[in-house]
Amino acid sequence: MNDTLTAFAQAKIDELEAKSLRRTLKPTHRTDGVHVVRGGREYVSFSCNDYLGLSHHPRVKAAAIVAVEAYGVGSGASRLVTGDNPLLGQLEARLAALKGADAACVFGSGYLANSGIIPTFVGPQDVVIVDELAHACIWAGATLTGAPIVAFRHNDVADLEAKLAEHRGKARRALVATDGVFSMDGDMAPLDAISRACRAQDAWLLVDDAHGLGVLGGGAGTARLFPEAQIDLHMGTLSKAIGGYGAYVCASRPVVDLIKTRTRTVVYTTGLPPANAAAAIAALDVIECEPELVAAPVARARRLTGSLGLPEAQSAIVPVVLGEAERALEAAADLERQGLLAVAIRPPTVPAGTARLRLAFCALHSEDQVDQLAEAVRPWVGA
Ligand SMILES: *Cc1c(COP(=O)(O)O)cnc(C)c1O
Repeated sequence: MNDTLTAFAQAKIDELEAKSLRRTLKPTHRTDGVHVVRGGREYVSFSCNDYLGLSHHPRVKAAAIVAVEAYGVGSGASRLVTGDNPLLGQLEARLAALKGADAACVFGSGYLANSGIIPTFVGPQDVVIVDELAHACIWAGATLTGAPIVAFRHNDVADLEAKLAEHRGKARRALVATDGVFSMDGDMAPLDAISRACRAQDAWLLVDDAHGLGVLGGGAGTARLFPEAQIDLHMGTLSKAIGGYGAYVCASRPVVDLIKTRTRTVVYTTGLPPANAAAAIAALDVIECEPELVAAPVARARRLTGSLGLPEAQSAIVPVVLGEAERALEAAADLERQGLLAVAIRPPTVPAGTARLRLAFCALHSEDQVDQLAEAVRPWVGA
């Protein structure tokens, strides 16, 4: 035991607590796509990314159970050793077909995917240009490159062009990275214009579509809404609408081949458990067969934005920005008293002064549940 370590941790926690920025875990039992039990009480949750309720879908669960019985619970090694269960390749073929790409590679998680992919293609002589609101794991991957990292203003293509003009010439190679749907704001990146800016300056484009897959573009994701966009690296996760765990990137065959031989978060990590791949394949089956289910989360989100006079939802995510962390916590507590779970999102997950309720809608929310949420949120937005 090292007392200075403990003292350091305690001081840091006290400092965060004083700023309403301390976070704590709360054991939560999700009983289906929308209901959770916490502290003995049941809530209707608007804080799950399980947009289609597939984490509890009978067909998806059954596929995972069959795979556990056949292959066990773990993959046993890195994929490059003995962890490459054939289900992983089957899942990759499905994802590549869905994205219209040649090939795909699956990962243990989205965080692992972005922190591994970006440094595979970018080094210290290059440049990474990132939307300022892109997900934390894009920044983690960018940091690992050793390259200069340049932020462009959120969804501002003119600023992206300016940053490319300023930095591209000095760099050997350039990678631009953005979310397809922004996780804390719910808006879409203008992928067609971003892609044009990248082509004009020979910059590669990575799109993280964690929140688009299964929800936008008939389930194929955000890129389907921008048919002109040329995306070099289609990254996304299996942990949101797909309902399970894991991630993927779809790209050309040589790009995927290089990832499979060099990306550290593929080589030096255990393969995705076979049951996760089986569940994801079953989830893609459901997405392909049930267009009404796929359309429902955005319809629910729009019902709320329409009711409160907020800008129309572009995805299953609606931010209700409240300002200071304390106010977001008070709003979340108020909703919680009414049986509604909408977790307050605070800095550093979002910029200072933009603490918010991040509302996420599931196909399984009833219209009545959405209306109840709207009435509970109304006093906080003054609508
Ligand atoms: C959730 C998320 C990730 C991380 O995915 P995990 O599989 O949860 O690690 C990456 N990018 C975005 C945009 C996300 O929302």
